[in-house]
Amino acid sequence: MNQRMIVVSNRLPIAINQVGNDWRIEPASGGLVTAIEPLMSKNKGTWIGWPGCGDEAPFDDLASSFSAEHSYQLKPVPLSESEVEKYYRGFSNEALWPLFHDLLGNCNFNLDNYLTYEAVNRRFAQVTAEFSTDDDIIWFHDYQLMLSGWYLRQMHPNRTIAFFLHIPFPSPDLFRRLPWSKQLLRGLLAHDLIGFQTLRDHRNFIHCVTSLVEGVEVVTSHDKHTVLRCGEHYIKAGHFPISIDFNEFSDSAGSKEVSKAAWHLQDNYRQRQLFLGIDRLDYTKGIPERFLAFERALEKYPDMRQKASLLQVVVPSRTMVPDYIDLKRLLEQLAGRINGRFSEQGWIPLHYYYRSLDPIQLLAHYRVAEVCLVTPLRDGMNLVAKEYCASSNDNQGILILSKFAGAFDQLGKHSLQVNPYDIEKTADTIYQAFSMSDNERSRRMAQLRAQIQSNDVHRWLETFIATLGNNPETMPRRPEKHLVELNSILAT
Ligand code: UDP
Repeated sequence: MNQRMIVVSNRLPIAINQVGNDWRIEPASGGLVTAIEPLMSKNKGTWIGWPGCGDEAPFDDLASSFSAEHSYQLKPVPLSESEVEKYYRGFSNEALWPLFHDLLGNCNFNLDNYLTYEAVNRRFAQVTAEFSTDDDIIWFHDYQLMLSGWYLRQMHPNRTIAFFLHIPFPSPDLFRRLPWSKQLLRGLLAHDLIGFQTLRDHRNFIHCVTSLVEGVEVVTSHDKHTVLRCGEHYIKAGHFPISIDFNEFSDSAGSKEVSKAAWHLQDNYRQRQLFLGIDRLDYTKGIPERFLAFERALEKYPDMRQKASLLQVVVPSRTMVPDYIDLKRLLEQLAGRINGRFSEQGWIPLHYYYRSLDPIQLLAHYRVAEVCLVTPLRDGMNLVAKEYCASSNDNQGILILSKFAGAFDQLGKHSLQVNPYDIEKTADTIYQAFSMSDNERSRRMAQLRAQIQSNDVHRWLETFIATLGNNPETMPRRPEKHLVELNSILAT
């Protein structure tokens, strides 16, 4: 691909910190950055987003030093405190996040928050317009920016604009509860390609647009993508399960540093089977249900006592949102109750840590855990599931995976499947993992690893870009009149 890539996400892939009188800029890690960075550097791309720092930081100087090292530019979209509160915390995290994870009861729909979301999305579009041309590929990411493509299209009808949703997309029955559902669909339909994580999300979107917006028709439906027509405007929607850099995880997990850290960790839990949970603090992750299932397993299968422990790492997240404060309190209560009930001399059943791990410690935990519990109530993909398998390079790990994680489509077959709402069966599955033979462990893990290795994050990027570019006939340059037509269809 020779076109320049303009990536737009809520946050820039950096952290800016003040150390004494100095300011530092650090690159963020993570699958998306790892996958996109080589392409951005090669084609001198630009990443646009909120820098996450205030006016006091010398952003331009820091961004120049970053660009010199990384060969792509950073462009900021500054946000005020009140915008962060309403657009990000309010609308994105208290309305879209729970709704898209099928948790209507956690939603807070507020007009003022929505209007700020619109205004901030328009600002992102303006900044993107300023730093892009019709020859670039513009790629908006995630639920915080579902309207920016629409605003950009109004300004520049001929730009190539793509979107990828990292979280699930809900069914029409749920989606129509959102008072601004049509505006969001209109926003999405302004893109050339809309990517989802799973076939289910892709289908939900097609059902939403065909049932909630008049004048949208399905032109063709392929295995991986659908072509929609809205007037003379053609849109592709497809599913592209995001992944990780498998080789990087597998190699790093075998490094000397990680082996040493793993050895120390193992020493702490000698003679015990370690069940591991690693999650951001989030009510979608099913952590209380997991605790209850582990408690039930200890009750029902006493031979697990003294021999198995659950190590749960909860990474602090959205600490100002009331639902998250309540969840933290609930987890502390449950952990206390379970340990109070079952602890014995020399054995603690549940080790609960509320903190993040550095990369070495994270890999060491993956290496040492004999079982990883990934049991969300709903999750777009869940990278921890993939990272755990990639790090299990002795093939001895077992993955217990929720049917409601996006990763289930690819990893369900060789993991132990659970419905996290079913505490009794999850407890039985925990015991099944506890008793599994080494042969079965390695057979399953080898299959999981092979799946992730051949569908890594580099393949995800290639497939997305190829789908965006491979049918020029369905993506004509659109004259102004088509935009007017598109507007009038979507206005109904
Ligand atoms: N992670 C991390 N530090 C930690 C624990 C986890 O950086 O202490 C990372 C983990 O490696 C993974 C990400 O956080 O890449 C979590 O991604 P996932 O898709 O599982 O869930 P999300 O938090 O995006 O909902």
